[in-house]
Amino acid sequence: MGFDVKIRVLGAHNLETADARHTCFLVNDVLAIDAGSLMTALTPRERDGLEAVLLTHRHYDHMRDLPSLALATMDNGATVSLYGLPDTLDALSSRLLDGLLYPNFTQRPTAERPKYRLHPIAPGQTLMAMGATGAAGLEARAAAMPHGAPAVGYVLRSSRGAAAFSGDTGGGLHALLSDPFRPSLLFVEVTFSNAAAARARGAGHLAPSLLEAELAAALARGLPVPKIVAVHMDQRHEEAIRRELAGVSSSLGVDIVPGAEDSEFLI
Ligand SMILES: [Zn+2]
Ligand SMILES: [Zn+2]
Repeated sequence: MGFDVKIRVLGAHNLETADARHTCFLVNDVLAIDAGSLMTALTPRERDGLEAVLLTHRHYDHMRDLPSLALATMDNGATVSLYGLPDTLDALSSRLLDGLLYPNFTQRPTAERPKYRLHPIAPGQTLMAMGATGAAGLEARAAAMPHGAPAVGYVLRSSRGAAAFSGDTGGGLHALLSDPFRPSLLFVEVTFSNAAAARARGAGHLAPSLLEAELAAALARGLPVPKIVAVHMDQRHEEAIRRELAGVSSSLGVDIVPGAEDSEFLI
């Protein structure tokens, strides 16, 4: 195998539309980061292959497909491990999987072998979960990120390198860029264009100018800045986001590309 980590971008936007999906990633065909597009982006066979989901936070666009995914894969007999902050898992249990809107899939089909098993995590914790998911040799480290709800980003590490995922965040990229495994890819949210930078700041999101400040600070500290893939874009801002990111890229000398649904990255 020429790579350790295969990352498929299932969605690169903050809202689902006719041609955009919620920000969501599939790693080595078995591990997902967030769950907002696991129904719309995956075939039934691909859904059956899922073993674990790392959740970044409780917001709807990151958890939405968990109820339908459970129903869609109910008959395969497999339990999927869901990792997240206690706040995230509490919201999932009490809202989306409350047994009223849909069955409580932490207890169904049976309490002994439920569809979902919940694993609370803490920021800073390194998860060896991947060893149990078939994505051999991968581990994940969760890092606290500033957002409107308690949130984490993740650094996925293999012997060949690492990739980082910011989740929704208003900054705090240092926690990912300073990882000793030195990520060679950073998937970072850029929700709004610079015209809405104040709104982004207030909501715990990034705009190109805010990303630029984050990256400039990292460079000033001597941290290497890897290739950046922008996700969680609002389509109404996307034209401006793309133009403004190109400006940040050339002014800092950093490789920044807008993410795209169904694109793939290898490490
Ligand atoms: Zn959010
Ligand atoms: Zn979001």
